[in-house]
Amino acid sequence: MRYRSTRGGVEDCGFVDAVLMGLAPDRGLLVPKTIPKVDAATLEKWSKLPFASLATEIISLYIDESEISRAELEQLTKTAYSNWRSEHVTPVHHLDGDYHLLELFHGPTYAFKDVALQFLGVLFELILTKKPKGQERLTIIGATSGDTGSSAIAGVRGKEGVECFILYPENRTSPIQEAQMCAYDDENVHALALRGACFDDCQKIVKGLFADQQFHARHSLGAVNSINWARIVAQIVYYFYASFQVDAAPVFSVPTGNFGDVLAGWYAKEMGCACRGLVVATNANDILARFFASGTYSRPPSAVETLAPSMDICVSSNFERFVFHCSGNDAAQTKSLMDQFEKTGAFTAPPALKAKAQAEMKAASVQKEEILATIKSRKEATGYVLDPHTACGVRAAEDLKSQLGAGPVICLACAHHGKFPAAINAALGDDAKSVPPEKALTDLLSVPHRKDILENSARAVIDFVEKTMASRKPAAKKARTA
Ligand SMILES: *Cc1c(COP(=O)(O)O)cnc(C)c1O
Repeated sequence: MRYRSTRGGVEDCGFVDAVLMGLAPDRGLLVPKTIPKVDAATLEKWSKLPFASLATEIISLYIDESEISRAELEQLTKTAYSNWRSEHVTPVHHLDGDYHLLELFHGPTYAFKDVALQFLGVLFELILTKKPKGQERLTIIGATSGDTGSSAIAGVRGKEGVECFILYPENRTSPIQEAQMCAYDDENVHALALRGACFDDCQKIVKGLFADQQFHARHSLGAVNSINWARIVAQIVYYFYASFQVDAAPVFSVPTGNFGDVLAGWYAKEMGCACRGLVVATNANDILARFFASGTYSRPPSAVETLAPSMDICVSSNFERFVFHCSGNDAAQTKSLMDQFEKTGAFTAPPALKAKAQAEMKAASVQKEEILATIKSRKEATGYVLDPHTACGVRAAEDLKSQLGAGPVICLACAHHGKFPAAINAALGDDAKSVPPEKALTDLLSVPHRKDILENSARAVIDFVEKTMASRKPAAKKARTA
């Protein structure tokens, strides 16, 4: 498989380059040149496979054998999906009636990003072993409002040749999220709390470092954010896996922020995964819901804080890939729309693009009271405790019911409720006492934390990275502290 940029600046590159590049130099995103189609006989075969083997089959369609062999890929997926709390990795749980939950939270950080980042961690390690002597190092720098950082750290900690720096706004993540980033003693991971910063400050510093050609080359930077193609491709797997657990083509309802997850669902559907529809569920940060209603994609002044913080975004960084595909893979049109968006903060899709987008996905925005009511009513009716993100997906599917037709609905359960105790208490009141805390998460609050607090400036981050990297050379074997 070969890749190209959504804005036309990269016409041809391989999988490894696409993964290492993150953002293309023209600021577009890398997409596969074709989307592989699978036939009924293949689906029948796939339906009997365990998760890791299915991952090998699907991901192999997106990587040339000359870059990563099948045997290597088999090893990667086996390693990435061996230590999950469910033997099925991403089991499907019947909630009630037509509703099912695709539980994506059985990995190390209790949120769905682990599915992709556990794979990305071992993938980076393998890619480094193939580099020429002296270049076997990779520096991961990422910004997080909570979930991405903890998943990334869980994915790369202890990995040979990989150094990882995660920037986050001090005192703005939940205590559990911070603990998940800081409770590790691996020397190659660094949680950097920026004093007085917001998430956008962190993001801006990271973007600046990636744009600095010299810094980028000197440290051989790698990205872990959701625009990384490897993350999307790993997420395609569970759509197929889930479709095999229900007896008719399902609707998938996907709690959405940066649009990576639902985009993976769209690729799955294009490949031939049984799917009756895709629901984009947003919270009050509804840029996508507004786009699907009006055809206009327009940036709000700022993100609002909600009960589902992992979806609190202004713009959805993966949306450009969907625009590209809905335009009929027209890089010129995509570039023109995105240029306009960058200049003015908005674009309006031409009629054909708008119609195509609306035919592919439905969207609904879910407000605070609806999130709380959905958690409460499902707990009362079924005993199951939805996390606030998952509740958005369940509620959006209910809201769109009349447009979706009859049949199974699979809601992606993106996080474990134990990560969001405040929302659960708000939703359930006294009844929250009947929900046992997730001990593995609460225990993290009391182990020693390792973090560095830096001033909110690019300079402070650069100095920290330089100093750390200088002390780590020559690429010594990782020594575990404590
Ligand atoms: C990241 C995240 C989302 C949003 O996923 P996108 O791929 O960014 O749309 C939703 N829920 C949870 C719990 C998350 O961590």
